[in-house]
Amino acid sequence: MIREIDSAQGAWLMVDGRRALNLCSNNYLGLADDIRLKDAAKAAINRYGAGPAAVRPIAGSLTLHRELEGAIARFKGVEAALALQSGFMANLGVIPAVVADGDFIFSDELNHASIIDGCRLSRAKTVRYAHADTDDLEKKLKVTPGRGRRLVITDGVFSMDGDIAPLPEIVEVARRYNAMVMVDDAHGEGVLGRDGRGAADHFRVRVDIEIGTMSKAFGVVGGYVAGSRDLIAMLKQNARPFLFSSASTAADTAACLAAVHILEDGGGLVARLWENAKYFQGRMRAAGYDLGRTQTPITPVMIGDAAKARELSDRLFDEGVFAQAIGFPTVAEGKARIRCMVSAAHTKEDLDFAVDAFIKAG
Ligand code: PMP
Repeated sequence: MIREIDSAQGAWLMVDGRRALNLCSNNYLGLADDIRLKDAAKAAINRYGAGPAAVRPIAGSLTLHRELEGAIARFKGVEAALALQSGFMANLGVIPAVVADGDFIFSDELNHASIIDGCRLSRAKTVRYAHADTDDLEKKLKVTPGRGRRLVITDGVFSMDGDIAPLPEIVEVARRYNAMVMVDDAHGEGVLGRDGRGAADHFRVRVDIEIGTMSKAFGVVGGYVAGSRDLIAMLKQNARPFLFSSASTAADTAACLAAVHILEDGGGLVARLWENAKYFQGRMRAAGYDLGRTQTPITPVMIGDAAKARELSDRLFDEGVFAQAIGFPTVAEGKARIRCMVSAAHTKEDLDFAVDAFIKAG
């Protein structure tokens, strides 16, 4: 059942007509309702209007698109970036532009659905390796033929478990077998690395392609690719969502730009997010809950049985906590969970309220 929200995103929401504590959104830093983003979006609408009119290669890029791409490239410490309409679109656009029939993709078995679909669209042979297992990755790289391009793809942070991909080891193995590395950092940016620069920055490693979304920590909607100038120039010729789907609106683009500036300026949001995550996870563990293998603010409360997880979610809602159950096929059968997303917008009292509800409802 999809619940109905009738309020702005934040620590508390109006859900199905009642006030509830929000543990469902990916609004890691609380930027989705930030006044600076809202003002930037309003000013952009006043100046540029509501719609983008057409695809960028035909109708032109807004100055704002260029500014956003410059800001993302600076923030990520790479040569160039390309803004797309969503993170899903970024994966669908990039993977088939980089590899094709006759090439090989090595994909972590828990990679996001948009990566899986991008791999299918590319027609390259996709080889799944065991989750975060670089020995298995190496085994699979070893037995594929020498011809064709090779691309290793991993989530930076795995969205259902909250664990971090072992990027230094992945990059090292990939280099030895002449493979490119692509990281989807949807849940790493705004969370890991210096001021939220992401998983690659967290480990201080270089990867060839970084995919990002503006819909989580950045608080808006949109996607991007970050990498070399050559990569971005090639994508402008070949990434089909860029070529054939209309651009992000001025309002969204301006709000994204404001969000990148806020992160660049530091200001303690990322630190507050981690403080909250540690506090919540510490109290949940003390209450006896199994939080799986999380290393980040993503907090899977492992239940196992899907019906039980749904029942707990319903009971939590009765207690005023919105925390959705997640079951098959989003996660493996028998691994149902309540996935709690902690945000910088939560106060300690909010998190205490949530833990107390879990204790009572569970
Ligand atoms: N990649 C990962 C790892 C994600 O978790 C998500 C969001 N669910 C996406 C891509 C898609 O991002 P967007 O919502 O911007 O399309």
